Amino acid sequence: MKTADSALETTMRPPTQFKDQLLNQADKEVYDVLVIGGGAAGLSAGIYLKRYLLSTLIVDKGKARSHWMQELHNYLGLPPNTPGRDVLKQGKSHYLALEGVYLNGYVQTVIDEGETFAVHVQTGRKSPSVAVFRSRYLVAASGIIDHLPKLVDQQNVFDYAGYNLHVCLICDGYEMRDKRAGVFGSSESSFEVAFHLGWFTPNITLFTNGEFEVGEALRDRLTQKAYKLVEQPIAHFLGNNHQMTGVELSDGSVVQLDAGLVSMGSKYHADYLADIELEYKGGNLVTDSMNRTSHPRIFAVGDLKVGMNQVVIASADGALAATQIWRDIRQAEGTRRSPLMSTA
Ligand SMILES: Cc1cc2nc3c(=O)[nH]c(=O)nc-3n(C[C@H](O)[C@H](O)[C@H](O)COP(=O)(O)OP(=O)(O)OC[C@H]3O[C@@H](n4cnc5c(N)ncnc54)[C@H](O)[C@@H]3O)c2cc1C
Repeated sequence: MKTADSALETTMRPPTQFKDQLLNQADKEVYDVLVIGGGAAGLSAGIYLKRYLLSTLIVDKGKARSHWMQELHNYLGLPPNTPGRDVLKQGKSHYLALEGVYLNGYVQTVIDEGETFAVHVQTGRKSPSVAVFRSRYLVAASGIIDHLPKLVDQQNVFDYAGYNLHVCLICDGYEMRDKRAGVFGSSESSFEVAFHLGWFTPNITLFTNGEFEVGEALRDRLTQKAYKLVEQPIAHFLGNNHQMTGVELSDGSVVQLDAGLVSMGSKYHADYLADIELEYKGGNLVTDSMNRTSHPRIFAVGDLKVGMNQVVIASADGALAATQIWRDIRQAEGTRRSPLMSTA
């Protein structure tokens, strides 16, 4: 077994050479498991899979949701200001040190061939090409991405999103305690989160950005709680150094805020599974307690599956899925697997 450092050196060969080699050999290899997505869930699955001596390929298109997480406040054992990108970097290094194979690419489609899956992966930006990889099992770890308010200057939103313009009440309700908080919704139902945010702060203003109507029943509930409702379009967020201090409306008036919570739903990254019949709840994949979907060889982990969208859950999900896949393969093969067989 190589040391972590020497394995890292191997995997850090000139990227183009390594990538070319991987793409040229795509049709010669059937991986035990192909993991789609290299966020917390996919990397955790990859680390466990490699420690079970299973050949594993992670394909990731980059910019995981945790990449936008500026500080991870609630993960046991990590300092509460750990940036999400540090967790990803450390997780990727750990996986590579176990000789896991990692490819920057976009999974376009997955075809169920019976014994194997054919996974079509697009790589390269300037001159894109598509390679087909095969695996016996699939782990869908491709997550979701949050919808954000649409303003004329979208960079103005990105300047604050993930800092004190939050997207997750469970993650950041605590950060908003007793603050002047704005809730940015996309429909009446998306405003329900304000009543949960009321656990942390009574000072809440809800913004429709002029995009939807609010009915009498909801207005009455907001009035009872003394929450304010702003129905004018937003011109832009105010603030500096990534700290949002309020909102300027289209008429030039200003609402001062200390923090915000965006509640506008998400895009689910599961288009590549469109040709396979699977059970969903909303956009989330339904799984059993070991994260197996309604397909016996497809597992789903992290934000893409039904459950809490948290790093600790995503990490545990990866461990569960990998362990169940190992049990399946171990029972099917019924014999000890030599490490030499799992160099992929
Ligand atoms: C701003 C912000 C703050 C947060 N704060 C916290 C916090 O404090 N505590 C906490 O526990 N959680 C927090 N979260 C939630 C946490 O980030 C997620 O629960 C966690 O990252 C989910 O991990 P994942 O692996 O399921 O998905 P992701 O981290 O999103 O990883 C999925 C990966 O799959 C890739 N992918 C998608 N489609 C494809 C495809 N077709 N082909 C190849 N790759 C693909 C994506 O690019 C991405 O890299 C926060 C989230 C955000 C956005």
